[in-house]
Amino acid sequence: MKSLCQRDGMSCGACCGLYNAEDLSRPALHAELGRRTRALREVERTPAAFRAAAAALAGGGPSPMFPSVRVCPLLGFLDEAETRVGCLAHPAANGGVDLRDCGVYDVATCDAFLCPSHAWLSEEEAAIAAAACDDYHLYGLVITDVEFVRAALAGVAVRAGARVERRHLEHGPFRAALRELFALKEELAPGSDGLFGAFRPGADGEPVARRIDYEALGRAGGSPYDRILTCVGADPRSGNDLEALEAEVRRRLDACAAVFGGTRPAG
Ligand code: SF4
Ligand code: SF4
Repeated sequence: MKSLCQRDGMSCGACCGLYNAEDLSRPALHAELGRRTRALREVERTPAAFRAAAAALAGGGPSPMFPSVRVCPLLGFLDEAETRVGCLAHPAANGGVDLRDCGVYDVATCDAFLCPSHAWLSEEEAAIAAAACDDYHLYGLVITDVEFVRAALAGVAVRAGARVERRHLEHGPFRAALRELFALKEELAPGSDGLFGAFRPGADGEPVARRIDYEALGRAGGSPYDRILTCVGADPRSGNDLEALEAEVRRRLDACAAVFGGTRPAG
Protein backbone atom coordinates (compact mmCIF):
# COMPACT_ATOMS: atom_id res chain seq x y z
CA MET A 1 0.00 0.00 0.00
CA LYS A 2 1.16 3.53 -0.71
CA SER A 3 2.22 5.49 2.34
CA LEU A 4 1.20 9.09 2.64
CA CYS A 5 2.59 9.45 6.19
CA GLN A 6 6.25 8.71 5.52
CA ARG A 7 7.47 8.70 1.95
CA ASP A 8 10.61 9.64 0.07
CA GLY A 9 11.57 13.14 1.15
CA MET A 10 8.21 13.94 2.75
CA SER A 11 6.36 13.26 5.99
CA CYS A 12 3.11 14.21 7.73
CA GLY A 13 2.05 14.52 11.36
CA ALA A 14 -1.40 16.03 10.96
CA CYS A 15 -3.38 13.30 12.71
CA CYS A 16 -1.08 13.49 15.75
CA GLY A 17 -2.29 17.06 16.27
CA LEU A 18 0.51 18.97 14.53
CA TYR A 19 -1.70 21.81 13.29
CA ASN A 20 -3.92 22.08 16.34
CA ALA A 21 -2.25 25.27 17.59
CA GLU A 22 -3.31 28.88 17.79
CA ASP A 23 -0.15 29.76 15.89
CA LEU A 24 0.31 27.12 13.21
CA SER A 25 2.93 29.04 11.25
CA ARG A 26 6.00 27.13 10.10
CA PRO A 27 8.39 28.76 12.65
CA ALA A 28 6.02 28.15 15.57
CA LEU A 29 5.36 24.49 14.74
CA HIS A 30 9.02 23.88 13.96
CA ALA A 31 10.04 25.30 17.32
CA GLU A 32 7.54 23.10 19.16
CA LEU A 33 8.63 19.94 17.32
CA GLY A 34 12.26 20.78 18.08
CA ARG A 35 11.49 21.34 21.77
CA ARG A 36 9.86 17.93 22.06
CA THR A 37 12.62 16.18 20.13
CA ARG A 38 15.38 17.63 22.29
CA ALA A 39 13.51 16.87 25.50
CA LEU A 40 12.82 13.25 24.59
CA ARG A 41 16.34 12.55 23.34
CA GLU A 42 17.74 11.82 26.79
CA VAL A 43 14.66 10.14 28.27
CA GLU A 44 15.00 6.48 29.27
CA ARG A 45 13.12 4.21 26.84
CA THR A 46 10.66 2.89 29.42
CA PRO A 47 6.90 3.49 29.63
CA ALA A 48 7.16 5.21 33.02
CA ALA A 49 9.87 7.63 31.91
CA PHE A 50 8.20 8.36 28.57
CA ARG A 51 4.82 8.95 30.24
CA ALA A 52 6.33 11.44 32.64
CA ALA A 53 8.17 13.21 29.82
CA ALA A 54 5.01 13.33 27.70
CA ALA A 55 3.06 14.90 30.56
CA ALA A 56 5.75 17.52 31.14
CA LEU A 57 5.92 18.34 27.43
CA ALA A 58 2.15 18.62 27.09
CA GLY A 59 2.02 21.05 30.00
CA GLY A 60 4.60 23.34 28.43
CA GLY A 61 3.22 23.29 24.88
CA PRO A 62 1.46 26.06 22.95
CA SER A 63 -2.30 26.61 23.27
CA PRO A 64 -4.38 24.40 20.96
CA MET A 65 -6.81 25.92 18.48
CA PHE A 66 -9.38 23.23 19.33
CA PRO A 67 -9.00 22.09 22.97
CA SER A 68 -11.17 19.00 22.36
CA VAL A 69 -8.84 17.69 19.63
CA ARG A 70 -5.81 15.82 20.95
CA VAL A 71 -2.24 17.00 20.47
CA CYS A 72 0.37 14.31 21.01
CA PRO A 73 3.59 15.55 22.61
CA LEU A 74 5.45 12.53 21.20
CA LEU A 75 5.40 13.88 17.64
CA GLY A 76 8.78 15.35 16.78
CA PHE A 77 11.64 15.20 14.33
CA LEU A 78 13.01 11.83 13.22
CA ASP A 79 16.22 13.23 11.73
CA GLU A 80 19.04 15.47 12.92
CA ALA A 81 18.37 17.99 10.16
CA GLU A 82 14.80 18.45 11.44
CA THR A 83 13.18 17.83 8.07
CA ARG A 84 11.18 14.66 8.78
CA VAL A 85 8.29 14.80 11.24
CA GLY A 86 7.16 11.58 12.87
CA CYS A 87 6.42 9.55 15.97
CA LEU A 88 9.23 9.55 18.53
CA ALA A 89 7.54 6.72 20.42
CA HIS A 90 7.40 4.38 17.42
CA PRO A 91 9.50 1.21 17.70
CA ALA A 92 11.41 2.24 14.56
CA ALA A 93 12.65 5.30 16.45
CA ASN A 94 13.51 3.45 19.65
CA GLY A 95 15.45 0.34 18.79
CA GLY A 96 12.30 -1.77 18.67
CA VAL A 97 10.70 -0.50 21.90
CA ASP A 98 7.10 0.60 21.34
CA LEU A 99 6.19 3.55 23.57
CA ARG A 100 3.10 4.78 21.75
CA ASP A 101 0.89 3.89 24.73
CA CYS A 102 2.50 6.91 26.42
CA GLY A 103 0.96 9.34 23.93
CA VAL A 104 -2.57 10.69 23.66
CA TYR A 105 -3.93 7.48 22.10
CA ASP A 106 -2.74 3.89 22.45
CA VAL A 107 -0.66 1.56 20.30
CA ALA A 108 -3.67 -0.05 18.64
CA THR A 109 -5.18 3.30 17.66
CA CYS A 110 -1.90 4.76 16.41
CA ASP A 111 -1.15 1.58 14.47
CA ALA A 112 -4.53 1.27 12.81
CA PHE A 113 -5.32 4.86 11.93
CA LEU A 114 -5.16 5.96 8.32
CA CYS A 115 -6.73 9.27 7.37
CA PRO A 116 -9.31 9.33 4.55
CA SER A 117 -6.71 10.54 2.05
CA HIS A 118 -5.34 6.99 1.94
CA ALA A 119 -8.61 5.77 0.50
CA TRP A 120 -9.24 8.64 -1.88
CA LEU A 121 -5.94 9.89 -3.29
CA SER A 122 -4.34 7.99 -6.15
CA GLU A 123 -0.61 7.29 -5.96
CA GLU A 124 -0.12 9.75 -8.85
CA GLU A 125 -1.96 12.52 -6.96
CA ALA A 126 0.01 11.78 -3.79
CA ALA A 127 3.32 11.77 -5.69
CA ILE A 128 2.48 15.12 -7.30
CA ALA A 129 1.62 16.65 -3.92
CA ALA A 130 4.81 15.30 -2.35
CA ALA A 131 6.97 16.55 -5.20
CA ALA A 132 5.43 20.02 -5.15
CA CYS A 133 5.57 20.58 -1.38
CA ASP A 134 9.09 21.25 -0.23
CA ASP A 135 8.64 20.48 3.44
CA TYR A 136 6.49 18.68 6.02
CA HIS A 137 4.62 21.86 7.00
CA LEU A 138 2.96 22.39 3.62
CA TYR A 139 2.77 18.69 2.77
CA GLY A 140 0.67 17.87 5.83
CA LEU A 141 -1.82 20.64 5.06
CA VAL A 142 -2.14 19.57 1.43
CA ILE A 143 -2.09 15.77 1.64
CA THR A 144 -4.96 15.73 4.13
CA ASP A 145 -7.27 17.70 1.81
CA VAL A 146 -8.15 15.46 -1.13
CA GLU A 147 -10.62 17.87 -2.66
CA PHE A 148 -8.10 20.72 -2.55
CA VAL A 149 -5.44 18.63 -4.32
CA ARG A 150 -7.92 17.65 -7.01
CA ALA A 151 -9.35 21.16 -7.38
CA ALA A 152 -5.88 22.67 -7.73
CA LEU A 153 -4.73 20.10 -10.30
CA ALA A 154 -7.99 20.45 -12.24
CA GLY A 155 -7.61 24.23 -12.26
CA VAL A 156 -4.09 23.95 -13.67
CA ALA A 157 -5.24 21.41 -16.27
CA VAL A 158 -7.93 23.78 -17.56
CA ARG A 159 -5.40 26.61 -17.86
CA ALA A 160 -2.57 24.49 -19.28
CA GLY A 161 -4.69 22.41 -21.62
CA ALA A 162 -3.33 19.12 -20.30
CA ARG A 163 -3.64 16.93 -17.23
CA VAL A 164 -0.83 17.42 -14.70
CA GLU A 165 1.34 14.31 -14.38
CA ARG A 166 4.12 13.41 -11.97
CA ARG A 167 6.76 13.78 -14.69
CA HIS A 168 5.82 17.44 -15.21
CA LEU A 169 7.19 18.23 -11.75
CA GLU A 170 10.69 17.39 -12.90
CA HIS A 171 10.60 20.86 -14.46
CA GLY A 172 11.75 23.20 -11.66
CA PRO A 173 9.77 26.30 -12.64
CA PHE A 174 6.52 24.34 -12.91
CA ARG A 175 7.19 22.58 -9.60
CA ALA A 176 7.76 25.97 -7.93
CA ALA A 177 4.60 27.44 -9.45
CA LEU A 178 2.50 24.48 -8.30
CA ARG A 179 4.02 24.81 -4.84
CA GLU A 180 2.85 28.41 -4.72
CA LEU A 181 -0.66 27.33 -5.64
CA PHE A 182 -0.67 24.69 -2.90
CA ALA A 183 0.81 27.25 -0.47
CA LEU A 184 -2.55 29.02 -0.37
CA LYS A 185 -3.18 26.54 2.44
CA GLU A 186 -0.51 28.23 4.55
CA GLU A 187 -1.90 31.72 4.10
CA LEU A 188 -5.40 31.34 5.46
CA ALA A 189 -6.93 32.88 8.56
CA PRO A 190 -6.50 30.81 11.74
CA GLY A 191 -9.40 28.40 12.20
CA SER A 192 -10.38 28.72 8.55
CA ASP A 193 -12.54 26.07 6.94
CA GLY A 194 -9.80 25.84 4.34
CA LEU A 195 -7.35 24.55 6.95
CA PHE A 196 -9.52 22.06 8.76
CA GLY A 197 -12.70 21.80 6.75
CA ALA A 198 -11.85 18.82 4.60
CA PHE A 199 -13.99 16.55 6.74
CA ARG A 200 -15.76 18.88 9.15
CA PRO A 201 -18.57 16.78 10.69
CA GLY A 202 -22.15 17.98 11.04
CA ALA A 203 -24.58 17.13 13.88
CA ASP A 204 -25.04 13.61 12.50
CA GLY A 205 -21.30 13.02 12.19
CA GLU A 206 -21.35 13.11 8.38
CA PRO A 207 -19.12 15.61 6.53
CA VAL A 208 -20.76 18.95 5.87
CA ALA A 209 -20.37 20.02 2.25
CA ARG A 210 -18.35 23.21 2.03
CA ARG A 211 -20.03 26.05 0.25
CA ILE A 212 -19.41 29.75 -0.26
CA ASP A 213 -22.46 31.92 0.36
CA TYR A 214 -22.01 34.06 -2.78
CA GLU A 215 -25.46 35.64 -2.42
CA ALA A 216 -24.57 37.03 0.99
CA LEU A 217 -21.36 38.44 -0.51
CA GLY A 218 -23.24 40.16 -3.35
CA ARG A 219 -21.77 37.81 -5.95
CA ALA A 220 -24.83 35.90 -7.14
CA GLY A 221 -22.89 34.71 -10.21
CA GLY A 222 -20.33 32.88 -8.07
CA SER A 223 -16.74 32.57 -9.20
CA PRO A 224 -15.03 30.64 -12.00
CA TYR A 225 -12.61 29.44 -9.32
CA ASP A 226 -15.36 28.20 -7.03
CA ARG A 227 -13.93 24.71 -6.54
CA ILE A 228 -10.57 25.92 -5.23
CA LEU A 229 -12.08 28.86 -3.36
CA THR A 230 -14.51 26.57 -1.58
CA CYS A 231 -11.65 24.34 -0.49
CA VAL A 232 -9.64 27.21 0.97
CA GLY A 233 -12.67 28.72 2.68
CA ALA A 234 -12.91 32.00 0.77
CA ASP A 235 -15.80 33.15 2.89
CA PRO A 236 -16.16 35.62 5.78
CA ARG A 237 -17.27 32.75 8.04
CA SER A 238 -13.75 31.41 7.64
CA GLY A 239 -12.20 34.81 8.13
CA ASN A 240 -10.86 34.92 4.57
CA ASP A 241 -11.51 37.59 1.96
CA LEU A 242 -13.17 36.25 -1.20
CA GLU A 243 -11.87 38.96 -3.55
CA ALA A 244 -8.30 38.73 -2.30
CA LEU A 245 -8.21 34.94 -2.45
CA GLU A 246 -9.85 34.87 -5.87
CA ALA A 247 -7.16 37.20 -7.20
CA GLU A 248 -4.45 35.00 -5.68
CA VAL A 249 -5.95 31.82 -7.16
CA ARG A 250 -6.11 33.45 -10.61
CA ARG A 251 -2.53 34.72 -10.35
CA ARG A 252 -1.14 31.39 -9.20
CA LEU A 253 -3.04 29.38 -11.83
CA ASP A 254 -1.77 31.75 -14.51
CA ALA A 255 1.77 31.29 -13.19
CA CYS A 256 1.44 27.48 -13.42
CA ALA A 257 0.11 27.70 -16.97
CA ALA A 258 2.82 30.15 -18.01
CA VAL A 259 5.61 27.67 -17.29
CA PHE A 260 3.76 24.45 -18.13
CA GLY A 261 5.07 24.56 -21.69
CA GLY A 262 8.57 24.04 -20.30
CA THR A 263 7.58 20.59 -19.01
CA ARG A 264 7.36 19.29 -22.57
CA PRO A 265 10.46 17.78 -24.12
CA ALA A 266 12.22 20.11 -26.57
CA GLY A 267 12.05 19.39 -30.28
S1 SF4 B 1 -2.95 12.71 8.59
FE1 SF4 B 1 -2.97 10.96 7.17
S2 SF4 B 1 -1.09 11.18 5.93
FE2 SF4 B 1 -0.88 12.46 7.76
S3 SF4 B 1 0.22 11.15 9.25
FE3 SF4 B 1 -1.99 10.94 9.65
S4 SF4 B 1 -2.64 9.15 8.46
FE4 SF4 B 1 -0.65 9.80 7.66
S1 SF4 C 1 2.13 8.13 19.93
FE1 SF4 C 1 0.53 8.01 18.34
S2 SF4 C 1 -0.44 10.04 18.37
FE2 SF4 C 1 1.55 10.22 19.43
S3 SF4 C 1 3.01 10.87 17.86
FE3 SF4 C 1 3.06 8.65 17.96
S4 SF4 C 1 1.63 7.96 16.37
FE4 SF4 C 1 1.17 10.11 16.80
